[in-house]
Amino acid sequence: MSNTLLLHCCCAHCTAYSIEHWRKRGYEVHGLWYNPNIQPFSEYRQRLEAMQALADESEMPLETVEGYDIREYLDRVIGNEVDRCRHCFELRLSRVAEIAAEKGFDVFSSALLISPHQQHELLREVGEKLSGETEFAYEDLRKRYSDSRHITKELDLYRQQYCGCVFSEWERYSGLKLADVIDKV
Ligand code: SF4
Repeated sequence: MSNTLLLHCCCAHCTAYSIEHWRKRGYEVHGLWYNPNIQPFSEYRQRLEAMQALADESEMPLETVEGYDIREYLDRVIGNEVDRCRHCFELRLSRVAEIAAEKGFDVFSSALLISPHQQHELLREVGEKLSGETEFAYEDLRKRYSDSRHITKELDLYRQQYCGCVFSEWERYSGLKLADVIDKV
C-alpha cells in the first residue's frame, strides 16, 4: 500500500505538477483547499472552481474546508501587513497539518513549494515547525513551475493575476511594495 500525502492546494497552477511530482515519489495524493487569504470572495470562487476542474482531470480527491475564514485571516494580518506572509502560511498550513493528523495521513505538503513568487525559505520554516504527528514533506520544486503552468494552459483554467490578499492585489497593480509605503498609507 502506498503512503498517503495531504497536499495543500493554493491554486490549480501550482498544484498541477505538484500532484505528478508526489505521485512519482510513490504517494497517494489527496488535495485540501483552505485559502481564506484570497480576496475578494468572487476571486476565491473562481480559483476554487479552477482547482476543482484540475482535481477532476487529475483524478485527485479534493476536500474543501467549509466556510470562508476571512475574519481569521484578517485578525492575524492586520497590524502585521509587512510580515503578512508568515501569518498567512501559519494559518493555512496549521489547518492542513491538523487535518492530516486527524485523518491519519503519513505526510502533508503544500503546492506553494513550486511557486517562485512565494517566500520559499519562510514557507519551508513554517512547514517544518508544524511537523509533528504528521511530517511536512519538503522539496524545492521551483524549477518545475513552468511544467505546472504548461499543464493548466492546456486545460484553459482561470489564471489569477496576484497572489491572493488585497495587499498583494494592490502591489500588483500599483507596482509598489507595501513595505516601502506602509507609514504613508
Ligand atoms: S501575499 Fe500571498 S502569501 Fe502573502 S499574505 Fe498575501 S495572500 Fe498570503
